[in-house]
Amino acid sequence: MAERRAALVGLGEPPFRAAQLSRHFFGRFTQQPEEMTDLPLASRGTLADALLPRLLAAERELSCDAGTTRKTLWRAFDGALVESVLMRYPDRVTMCVSSQAGCGMGCPFCATGQAGLTRNLSTAEIVAQVVAGARTLAAGQVPGGPGRVSNVVFMGMGEPLANYASVVAAVRRLTDPVPDGMGISQRSVTVSTVGLVPAMARLAGEDLSVTLAVSLHAPDDELRDTLVPVNRRWQVAEVLAAAWDYAAATSRRVSIEYALIRDVNDQAWRADALGSLLAGRLAHVNLIPLNPTPGSKWTASRPAAQREFIRRLAAHGVPVTVRDTRGREIDGACGQLAASARR
Ligand code: SAH
Ligand code: SF4
Repeated sequence: MAERRAALVGLGEPPFRAAQLSRHFFGRFTQQPEEMTDLPLASRGTLADALLPRLLAAERELSCDAGTTRKTLWRAFDGALVESVLMRYPDRVTMCVSSQAGCGMGCPFCATGQAGLTRNLSTAEIVAQVVAGARTLAAGQVPGGPGRVSNVVFMGMGEPLANYASVVAAVRRLTDPVPDGMGISQRSVTVSTVGLVPAMARLAGEDLSVTLAVSLHAPDDELRDTLVPVNRRWQVAEVLAAAWDYAAATSRRVSIEYALIRDVNDQAWRADALGSLLAGRLAHVNLIPLNPTPGSKWTASRPAAQREFIRRLAAHGVPVTVRDTRGREIDGACGQLAASARR
């Protein structure tokens, strides 16, 4: 807010206009000068142009689940493509956002990973995805009546902790109260990481109570080295130690993400190995049925293997959920829409 005030003074306006403009953007989700009737007519257009430029243009929009799942492919000023997804449930609305255009981590099962990293998104480009969803909801354009964004997950394109400063600043803008930010609860924000240990440690010191999700996908280094190449740098034991430090610092239960891949990581013995690693920890496992990417040799686990995997984790006393797989028919997962736009 201090920087916004300084920017207004720089434009020859009184500093209190910063809060007015912020309220329009973060509270009413508008960038349209004609809707800013509390600003002098003469300066509305100039201020909106100078301080609230449109950063992302909707390139494609797809929906399914009777309109309650909506995916947008965005084009940034330089042509970079990113995706966000809005998912409305009876009790909440979750926005899944991108933190980078592409990703440099190279996980072989992930469509985003296949294309490599284009660039980091700015804080504003991340926030703009959530504001766009909030605007659609507030306008009553999502079946179920007008609503609000209650949850944000950094599970779109990119590795959030590889774009650390912009992601942490975006979390603050999303969670600061209006007019400083959007006023979403910190506890309703999830940052998902492939396991960048130094950045996990740094996040634990931010005094944020966001949920940390760790994409583990294998309990053993031999397999994880192939599924998550960055494992060669930070191995399972180190990644989990950083996760437990995060849980201790924040009292937040860590979410362990595990994409179940048929005959690759879904064996009963791996469920037991995972259960032993997690037993007694402040953690739960979120199993993700693999969403096969075009041309991939891998597919989701058989139902019986998935059931047995769940049973064995539960036998270790580890809480486990299966991620709902909304949006598959609209390339809803993991960079597939941007990949198809490039093809
Ligand atoms: N880079 C971060 C966050 C974005 S990916 C991370 O890896 O955690 C969000 C989640 O989707 C991760 O758990 C990732 O492993 C998972 N994912 C990627 N591709 C997938 C696919 N094809 N099927 C199922 N889950 C996938
Ligand atoms: Fe990047 Fe996450 Fe995809 Fe791995 S799974 S390539 S870290 S976006």
